[in-house]
Amino acid sequence: MLDADFFRRWMTACAASVEREADRLTALDSPIGDADHGTNLQRGFRAVTAALEREAPTTPGAVLTLAGRQLISSVGGASGPLYGTLLRRTGKALGDAAEVSEEQLAEALRAGVDAVRALGGAAPGDKTMVDALVPAVEALSTSFAAAKDAADEGAIATTPMLARKGRASYLGERSVGHQDPGATSSALIVAALEEADGE
Ligand code: ADP
Ligand code: MG
Ligand code: MG
Repeated sequence: MLDADFFRRWMTACAASVEREADRLTALDSPIGDADHGTNLQRGFRAVTAALEREAPTTPGAVLTLAGRQLISSVGGASGPLYGTLLRRTGKALGDAAEVSEEQLAEALRAGVDAVRALGGAAPGDKTMVDALVPAVEALSTSFAAAKDAADEGAIATTPMLARKGRASYLGERSVGHQDPGATSSALIVAALEEADGE
């Protein structure tokens, strides 16, 4: 079973991974965006870490809804409301249970990803975070490791895609041949589940 500490470790692992990879995320956002994805997520996950320390939420659902609220309020870019919605909706789906099963997490994350799709209007193949998140939630019923591999593959698969949502879509054909920054950060967020589990 997964308790509030597991979800706290997940958010902390996301924050650490974003710190490590911020330059790469911003570099990916340079040719097909506005070169701020790494700094956006750094700001966001620093706010998440600070809020979790300050407020010490005691259930899985409360950890994720607090984290989601922080992302929405601290990140100006498109990724803030989208990732904030992902975590808030997932947290809401977990309810107020003190512990949840991996199956319940997989089910809740599916609701979270559906909310991201509803908010941003992106479908798989549009070259966004959705291209990493959708295969990851499909694989999550198998294992965290399988979800990580699926998200990595989903992120890599965005390279030949034509962007249909977000800033990259303004470039039309010129968006082809670049890996999507948001799909890349989604793969980091999914990979952080396995890190939280191993600790
Ligand atoms: P901004 O584009 O506002 O500068 P970021 O650089 O932080 O925001 O995030 C860009 C990422 O957000 C993109 O790489 C893409 O994955 C994701 N994104 C942008 N718009 C959408 C959308 N409508 N639906 C899903 N994901 C989106
Ligand atoms: Mg950007
Ligand atoms: Mg921006």
